[in-house]
Amino acid sequence: MTGIALTGGRLVDGGGGPPADAAAVLIDGERIVWTGRAADAIIPDSFRRIDTTGHTILPGLVDAHAHVAAVMCGAELQTQDASAFGSFFTDQFLRFGVTAVRDTGSPDTGPEFQLLREGRRDWPRFVGSGPNLDGAPGGPWPGLRVVDDPEPGRCAVRELAAQGVDFVKTYVWMPPATLAAVVEAAHAAGLPVAAHAGHILTADEAVRIGVDALEHVRIGPELLSEEKRDALKALRTRDFDWLFDFRAWRFADLAGAETDRLIQLLLDRRIFLTPTLSVARAVLMGDDEAITSPAGIGALPGDVREQWHAESFTLDWEAEDFGWGRMELERQMEFVGLAAGAGVRVAAGTDTPNPFVLPGQSMHDELELLVGSGLTPMQAIVAGTSRAAELLGLADRIGVVKPGYLADLLVVRGDPVSSITATRSVALVIKSGQIVWHDAAHEL
Ligand SMILES: [Zn+2]
Repeated sequence: MTGIALTGGRLVDGGGGPPADAAAVLIDGERIVWTGRAADAIIPDSFRRIDTTGHTILPGLVDAHAHVAAVMCGAELQTQDASAFGSFFTDQFLRFGVTAVRDTGSPDTGPEFQLLREGRRDWPRFVGSGPNLDGAPGGPWPGLRVVDDPEPGRCAVRELAAQGVDFVKTYVWMPPATLAAVVEAAHAAGLPVAAHAGHILTADEAVRIGVDALEHVRIGPELLSEEKRDALKALRTRDFDWLFDFRAWRFADLAGAETDRLIQLLLDRRIFLTPTLSVARAVLMGDDEAITSPAGIGALPGDVREQWHAESFTLDWEAEDFGWGRMELERQMEFVGLAAGAGVRVAAGTDTPNPFVLPGQSMHDELELLVGSGLTPMQAIVAGTSRAAELLGLADRIGVVKPGYLADLLVVRGDPVSSITATRSVALVIKSGQIVWHDAAHEL
């Protein structure tokens, strides 16, 4: 058999167009060759027919913020059986319908990184930044490079470009002049720049300097009056505020002109915003066992689960911090909803394997959190498929179900357009035209 015909289901193409019922998708080799009404499909005898009635066909999901290479080379989440855990980790993406990932920081661009970029049937497609670039003192992550001045910044970008990275990721301590040099060198090399800003530089400043993408919703003083900025500064310093301080949201007025101005800036500069609400929730609701022990966590090795608890970012938080945390999460979700509603390019990403953010499975949390932020289920699906594919630079190959595109597809039971939770009911996952996972109901 040479091809696959998915027939009878609802087709959601990932581009945001209206769903098509009683559809068919024909796959030949690694590509989609035809889509349309099942009744009109001319299916060669040699094709394997799979009845998808009662199901929805979607593009494979794209996790736009994850750290896969770091796990594969054993730098993140040390466990007794590192190689078994590496396979488990990559399997989880495919098993939950995530057929591509954007790796936003790894210790190096060594063999694991290069292998992931080359790709393998049983791994998600991979686009990566390699090591993050930061100013002093620099985040404590393995391999992160501190480049305090513009010239070393430019050199680091040229080195990373030569090593084959797909984009450059900058981190929380990078000074403005160095960021400007990094952006210039990256753009000269044809690479976009993604920033985790919001610590020494506001997101607003990073955007004005010229970054292309913002990771997380680290919005802060740029939304606040001077008086509120002083109140923010007066708060007690906690261990991981440099990483995930969302306290500006306590003071922010989302109905204020500053919010509109920032959203307009994101629109004008065509910024991709990857809110990673999954990790924000894991931090801000880190006192809630439902969040720190999500269903499915038992599949992880015990030593990995212990590490998650030991390395949680909120060990020095007080009850009051978590009390505010719920509001800080609500406010940033509200901001994401406003930004998406205004047309900002929002992509779905999770930041797995940060504590309590499960590989693959968390992508469905992220889609639900985006819907909770005010996106329609269809907008959330776009954020996790075609929009994320654009951010990965793969918009001409994946992210939509259209003839000519790679056959990275997901079939779920039910209809995620009426209820986004349906994406969790993964029935069948196809990558490059091959079935890489299926549930028992689809004996193949
Ligand atoms: Zn990250």
